[in-house]
Amino acid sequence: MPFGNTHNKMKLNFSSEQEYPDLSQHNNHMAQVLTPEMYADLRDKETPSGFTLDDVIQTGVDNPGHPFIMTVGCVAGDEETYEVFKDLMDPVIEARHGGYKPTDKHKTDLNSESLQGGDDLDPNYVLSSRVRTGRSIRGFCLPPHCSRGERRAIENLSIESLDALEGDLKGRYYALKNMTDEEQQQLIDDHFLFDKPVSPLLLASGMARDWPDGRGIWHNDNKTFLVWVNEEDHLRVISMQKGGNMRDVFTRFCTGLTKIEELFKERGHEFMWNEHLGYVLTCPSNLGTGLRAGVHVKLPNLSKHEKFGEILKKLRLQKRGTGGVDTAAVGGVFDISNADRLGFSEVELVQMVVDGVNLLVDMEKRLEAGENIDDLMPEQK
Ligand code: ADP
Ligand code: MG
Repeated sequence: MPFGNTHNKMKLNFSSEQEYPDLSQHNNHMAQVLTPEMYADLRDKETPSGFTLDDVIQTGVDNPGHPFIMTVGCVAGDEETYEVFKDLMDPVIEARHGGYKPTDKHKTDLNSESLQGGDDLDPNYVLSSRVRTGRSIRGFCLPPHCSRGERRAIENLSIESLDALEGDLKGRYYALKNMTDEEQQQLIDDHFLFDKPVSPLLLASGMARDWPDGRGIWHNDNKTFLVWVNEEDHLRVISMQKGGNMRDVFTRFCTGLTKIEELFKERGHEFMWNEHLGYVLTCPSNLGTGLRAGVHVKLPNLSKHEKFGEILKKLRLQKRGTGGVDTAAVGGVFDISNADRLGFSEVELVQMVVDGVNLLVDMEKRLEAGENIDDLMPEQK
């Protein structure tokens, strides 16, 4: 498994040209932004916890591209990464988040009452609805850089806080290392748990070190509210259920998330957040809301339409396979979710998904009946 070479000070005996990565075959945001001059400028800088430029970019060096999505090609190792390496991070953020400028301010809106509709996505097409985000606990390094002790402390803190949840959010923690292989696989197959660390994006960033130590999942009894601990982010908070009631899913998400933030605060811990970046997470693609609202939806006809890609782009939506970010769609069922995370509020993003998915389903019905969809073509959102 590749890992950072932070501790190798010998590299500074070589010139910046001699150390510069070969990015000639690359198509990710980092590779498009990084220049030899920038590398020379930043390569001997480090954050207070010791995260260096080489650690930031390693995942993008080792993963030239991705078959389905444009990756960012860099990660943060701690909250300060975004500041110390802003010459690289700011343009990456701008490219990934639709022109979001270093002076822009992010808005948070977790008031699910403001959502219009969303309780009636057609369950004949929409198999399940889900909203997730990440949260990082201030004062600890992020997964690409955290130590075993830090990771275990986050795990303990999470169990303590989450165990205080009540009512329909009440649940318990399941450590990965206490699960049998079968139990783990079942949770993965049922879409509740993160995959084993097979994604090259995860591996190359360093965040799969010490697996499965300190990792686990907390969930309520009926598995509609779940928290992943120490995967790509300190916390991934998820609300999900079968069918097309995105409104219920989002309402539970907002209530649970707000409660969790309170519980951490009561224990003296706050989440990484600032006015510009919103919630600070490991992957620059998740900054801001960190929110991905998505459905598993059957679109066997529309997905074969020549304009499918263009339609998604216009609706500001993204497609994935149903087994997660590294999988392709099987049998015309896709994971359709918002493409943006930053610059739009949580409510605005979920609204885009609700409205967009309704339109996609209408289009699918038309095509199914052998009719055309020309008059349904959306404007650019
Ligand atoms: P994330 O953005 O949460 O990291 P991934 O693409 O890595 O998402 O997928 C993580 C897991 O969540 C996978 O098992 C995937 O099938 C599941 N998942 C994602 N969206 C949905 C959905 N709408 N319904 C059911 N499961 C989902
Ligand atoms: Mg993931």
